[in-house]
Order: sequence, then C-alpha cells, then structure tokens
Amino acid sequence: MINIQEKISLKAYNTFGIDVKAKHFVTMSSTAEIIEFCSKHLKDYQKHLILGGGSNILFTKDFDGIVVKIENKSIEIIEEDEKHVFVKAAAGEIWDELAKYCVMRNYGGIENLSNIPGTVGAAPVQNIGAYGVEFKDAFVQLEAIEIITGKTQTFSKNECEFGYRKSIFKDRLKGRYVITSVVLRLTKHPVLSTEYGSIKEELSKMNITDPGIHDIRQAVINIRSAKLPDPDIIGNAGSFFKNPVVENKKLESLKQRYPGIPSYKQDENNVKLAAGWLIDQCGWKGKSIGNAGVHKDQALVIVNHGDASGKEILSLADNIRDSVFEKFRIQLTPEVNIV
Ligand SMILES: Cc1cc2nc3c(=O)[nH]c(=O)nc-3n(C[C@H](O)[C@H](O)[C@H](O)COP(=O)(O)OP(=O)(O)OC[C@H]3O[C@@H](n4cnc5c(N)ncnc54)[C@H](O)[C@@H]3O)c2cc1C
Repeated sequence: MINIQEKISLKAYNTFGIDVKAKHFVTMSSTAEIIEFCSKHLKDYQKHLILGGGSNILFTKDFDGIVVKIENKSIEIIEEDEKHVFVKAAAGEIWDELAKYCVMRNYGGIENLSNIPGTVGAAPVQNIGAYGVEFKDAFVQLEAIEIITGKTQTFSKNECEFGYRKSIFKDRLKGRYVITSVVLRLTKHPVLSTEYGSIKEELSKMNITDPGIHDIRQAVINIRSAKLPDPDIIGNAGSFFKNPVVENKKLESLKQRYPGIPSYKQDENNVKLAAGWLIDQCGWKGKSIGNAGVHKDQALVIVNHGDASGKEILSLADNIRDSVFEKFRIQLTPEVNIV
C-alpha cells in the first residue's frame, strides 16, 4: 500500500543536511509502485520533486508539494556477447553498488565513477563524471515515465542530449519524467583510463604495476576519501559549481595576469577552467559565513558546519559567484539543483 506522509522533515534525505519540510512525502520501493503512482496520481499534485539520494540538491525552503523518493532496486544482465555485457539497473539502486557489481565481475566502463554518492536514476540527469569518464560513455538507454501522460518511454543516448554535467532531464525536460531504470554497456575486456587526476600516483602508492579495474576502483576510492568531505560527517553536495568553459582567447588574456591558471582543452575553440582554483584565488578556501563554509581543502565544495539553512548556503554561494565574477569576469553556474 502506498503510504503518503505529511509534513516530513527532509534533513535525513539530503546530504547537505538541510532541515526543511515536505508537505507530502512518499517512498516508492518497486518499479510497479512507481508506475502505478507516477503514471496515475502524481499529476494530481500541484508540485512534485523526484528524489534519489539527495546528494545533488540544495533545499532553500519548505517544499510545498510531494517529494517522491525512488527506491526500486534490481541489477540484471539482460544481454551479452563475447565482448560486451548489457546491465539493466533500477533507478533506486545506489550508484556505487552498481559500480561495485560491475567491477567484481570484471565488466569495465564505470570503475572511474566509483564512490560517487546517489542513485542510478539520478546519474543520467547530470551525466555524472569523474576521473576522465562520464556516465554517458557506458550508457545505452533508459526508461522513464512521462508524468503528465503516465506513459513509459525509452530514451536513447542521443535523445538524452548529454553534455558536461547536463542532460535533457536537467534542462528542457526538467521535472517532467521519472526515470525508472537504465541500461549500460560494459566491456569484458576493460580498457583502463588512468590519465586523469592522480590515479597513476595512487596506483604506484599502492604498489600496483599491472592494474585491473578493481585496482582502479580502489585507487579512486582512496583518492576520493582523502580529498572529499564525507557527507555523513559534514553536510555537502560535492562540487557546488560547474567548471566554467571559456573561449581560448579568454584563457590567453587570463594567462597574462595568472600564468599558472589551470586549463583543460575542451575542443578547438574552448577550454575548461577549474572553478575550485578560481574560488581559491578569491581567498574563499576555509572561509565561513555563519554556519555555511567553504571546505578547508576543496574550494569547490560548500559545507554545512552545523545547522545552516539552505538560504545561508545559497547566500555564501552567491558571494563566491560575485567575487569570481569581479576578479575574473567569469560567471560560475551551480552544479547543484537549487529547490
Ligand atoms: C561528496 C560528494 C561527491 C560527489 N562527487 C561527484 C562526482 O564526482 N561527479 C558527479 O557527477 N557528481 C558528484 N556528486 C553529486 C551527486 O553525487 C550526483 O549528482 C548524483 O548523481 C546525485 O544522485 P542522487 O540520487 O543523490 O540525486 P538527487 O540529489 O536526489 O537528485 C538530483 C536531481 O536528479 C533528479 N532525479 C533524481 N532521481 C531521479 C529519477 N529517478 N528520475 C528523474 N529525476 C531524478 C532530482 O529531481 C534532482 O533534480 C557528488 C556529491 C557528493 C555529496
């Protein structure tokens, strides 16, 4: 039986640990329940929010609608050939459980995305990425329910319009679909991606000379655990802002004043800059305003030092944005969904 609760605190359901209330709250623990509820009843509510692990959301006020928490679980191999295996995972699965499942079977493709918090269903929404790999690289298709019509639809890779930390579900179709499952294509003969970040250094620290994907997973876990604050200890949502993409000529003019500015080629005309570096140059690392702060080691991560409200976090983010704009004439955009 579907149990719709009222006036529920969302503090335990978002990794910032923001204490706001949802007018209505419901948990969906099977795909059948999601289809039944989201295709027939969800459109009757004036406002809805589909929630996974709440690790990419900043609540700035009480939510005056229904929060639908997706918890359907299953991982199955639906097809395989000599080279590849096609894995279907339910949206409510924990992303890292899927990463672990694949690595344990030596199915390569998502090991660099190990240890990213959140659910499988949210992974396509912002096309999660880390250490040179993006969700879209292994993606085949997903199933989603269109809330307004109640119809189930399949989206191919092209139809998802993936980009850097974006997809059609974070953009044009935001809030209009409930993703119920995804299908990924993994390889039985993994090609390792070790160029990005400090994976190579970590492998050598681990004394690994001939790594497999389980070593990559362990290296990524080690690096991430050392570098990123654990939301169970200090509230945060990972990188608060996206890394800005600017034209080559903008980089050239910045280099005259800041010769050490880090940049990563995006395409022929554009480069990606490190938002964390820009924020650090503005002196924000380790600074706090009230209960909201910038992490002492990661300038891109905004943290909740205690009982910060979402508005306090947002106000700090706005201050950071303003100072980066003033110094560099670069507009930062949030990666986190602000609700
Ligand atoms: C410590 C830390 C480190 C992180 N590192 C990374 C990283 O390296 N790379 C990276 O890309 N991200 C990273 N993130 C951000 C976050 O983990 C990802 O964005 C993740 O995919 C969010 O999953 P979630 O289930 O928590 O989504 P939520 O925060 O619950 O939701 C995010 C968005 O997706 C929508 N959504 C969720 N589920 C569904 C669904 N089933 N159907 C339709 N819409 C849905 C929500 O409405 C919301 O708009 C990090 C976060 C933290 C806290």
